[in-house]
Amino acid sequence: MRMEEDKLLVRKIKNGSVIDHIKAGNGLKVLDILKITPDNTAVVMLNVQSKRFGKKDIVKIENKELNNFEINKIAILAPNATLNIIKDWKVVDKKKIMMPKIVEGILKCPNSNCITNYEPVKTRFCVEERGLRCWYCERIFRVNEVI
Ligand SMILES: [Zn+2]
Repeated sequence: MRMEEDKLLVRKIKNGSVIDHIKAGNGLKVLDILKITPDNTAVVMLNVQSKRFGKKDIVKIENKELNNFEINKIAILAPNATLNIIKDWKVVDKKKIMMPKIVEGILKCPNSNCITNYEPVKTRFCVEERGLRCWYCERIFRVNEVI
């Protein structure tokens, strides 16, 4: 029943990407990561009822395939999200977005004294239970601080 209601709320897309099972509250941030061009029609659904997860957010983008950079960034923000690739109205690929253990070159260290902010070195963070630890300055940041 609920599935049908969701379908009524937002029409299907012909070609593009659907990021599903985003933790409720992070949908707009996920949209922010994806650089939307005038060719992309995007829809964000917030607080959709989900059997398995309680409330979740969903992002649908027409005419866009996500690159690895975008997928990795989303993985940090929305671990356990699923990425559906849509072609000709059908789901042709379904990927689970996994939280990486090490995040390289994507994020910026918020510590202005960190070497990564004044030397040309690739940032590197270890994903830990308490947050993301910078490999260089060893400070731990919450996800919201680095994205
Ligand atoms: Zn640092």
